[in-house]
Amino acid sequence: MSKQFDVIVIGAGPGGYIAAIRAAQLGKNVACVDEWKNSQGGPALGGTCTNTGCIPSKALLQSSEHFDHASHHFAEHGIEVKGVSMDAAKMVARKDAVVKQNNDGILYLFKKNKVSFFHGRASFVKAVEGAASTGSGPGYEIKVAGAAEETLMGQQVIVATGSSARALPGAPFDESQVLSNEGALAMTAVPKKLGLIGSGVIGLEMGSVWRRLGSEVTILEGLPTFLGVVDAQIAKEAHKAFVKQGLKIELGVTVGDVKVGKKGVSVAWTNAKGEAQKLDMDKLIVSIGRVPNTAGLNAEAVGLQLDERGAIVVDSDCKTNLPGVWAVGDVVRGPMLAHKAEEEGVAVAERIAGQHGHVNFNTIPWVIYTNPEIAWVGRTEQQLKADGVAYKAGTFPFLANGRARALGDTTGMVKMLADATTDEILGVHIVGPMASELIAECVVAMEFRASSEDIARICHAHPTLSESTKEAALAVDKRTLNF
Ligand SMILES: Cc1cc2nc3c(=O)[nH]c(=O)nc-3n(C[C@H](O)[C@H](O)[C@H](O)COP(=O)(O)OP(=O)(O)OC[C@H]3O[C@@H](n4cnc5c(N)ncnc54)[C@H](O)[C@@H]3O)c2cc1C
Repeated sequence: MSKQFDVIVIGAGPGGYIAAIRAAQLGKNVACVDEWKNSQGGPALGGTCTNTGCIPSKALLQSSEHFDHASHHFAEHGIEVKGVSMDAAKMVARKDAVVKQNNDGILYLFKKNKVSFFHGRASFVKAVEGAASTGSGPGYEIKVAGAAEETLMGQQVIVATGSSARALPGAPFDESQVLSNEGALAMTAVPKKLGLIGSGVIGLEMGSVWRRLGSEVTILEGLPTFLGVVDAQIAKEAHKAFVKQGLKIELGVTVGDVKVGKKGVSVAWTNAKGEAQKLDMDKLIVSIGRVPNTAGLNAEAVGLQLDERGAIVVDSDCKTNLPGVWAVGDVVRGPMLAHKAEEEGVAVAERIAGQHGHVNFNTIPWVIYTNPEIAWVGRTEQQLKADGVAYKAGTFPFLANGRARALGDTTGMVKMLADATTDEILGVHIVGPMASELIAECVVAMEFRASSEDIARICHAHPTLSESTKEAALAVDKRTLNF
């Protein structure tokens, strides 16, 4: 006998677990299925984000930043620390404990919201008329292959199966020497020489962690431009800081053969000038993008449409080609970000409940949690130029901000772009301390379609880093007060 649900969510990453909770809050009888296993074979809810993405990377970035401060920056505060040492295995164990707190937290939230959780792989079996107890429309039979096999029936299905790391052709991940994000976050010793392919968000964050802990890090990037999606002025500032920290970044390269030996990895590559090069390293992290997880869904059984990348095709409301089947997060188009997945999950749950959930894709913030942090919302200067939009720009350096000087962290700036005629804020770009937190004000401003004048006239506490945002807004009108 199958179990009947109003909504079945496949995947308990940020897209899926948030959709499940919101649908349950709105009175739906909800099941959520996830296959991720912890080291004991039990469930580990939270998907990539919690297990091998956002949370563990931030835990290691924090630990490695503490180490960097103790090793290099305490002395300037008059604090003498003798013999700073570091235990990478302990750092990783702390990271694992942080991950587990988050896994357990989601299970607790499911219980609190009466979401039924099933541990195992979910796949479509068939479409069935009037499948769920409360529904009369089409529904879907879903098989769960776990410790025991279960059959579930759902009137509505939300697919939130996420994504996995893309491997380099000819160099499959062994998570020992050729590492995806999983292996990169689990190293218990610091590699002397570390190579990375890909200088995107994940590559820069992972490279920063292991560089701070003492690895010699070389990043090989195929694109000719460093962080091409970032505002060019901000990317240039960040590049300077990363090079100063000792990250070697090679742009415009072509990666050739990867040879994995007993003791290390050797990568043949060609530099931007076309010269053949070779790089030997202890470990190689490959971060060249991610592939949507649709292989295990048996999408063909119900005719669920996928694109050429294997992503589920959805419209702007996250509706698939099948009635009652929705998809959110990394498994569909758009930026692969946890908060984008969450917003889509909430919007879909609300639409299922007859409400009008909506995601504003123009105000999704991006953050890179390096040091300096990089964060932005809206369009870059190069995008505005390409779109032919007349704009005004204002920048304010952290060097001129009192709080940044007190923190001893004055790298970077806030840059605000506003429409030349209406003064509406079109983009804000930050490189510097706590950019990840500062960007929230700018997202709110853009969501409310604020002008730069609005931010310039709002009282910001002194001394705070956020005064730099106000000053950048003042700079749009060429009336900065502190620079
Ligand atoms: C190293 C790294 C750092 C990152 N840092 C950040 C960050 O700081 N901020 C940010 O916003 N984003 C970050 N991301 C991206 C973020 O992790 C993803 O965008 C986010 O996890 C996507 O959420 P999701 O719910 O779509 O999928 P996922 O989190 O991937 O979850 C999908 C879940 O579905 C399960 N699943 C898949 N197929 C099936 C099936 N057939 N049956 C049952 N279960 C299934 C998977 O096991 C998984 O648990 C990072 C990613 C990486 C790799």
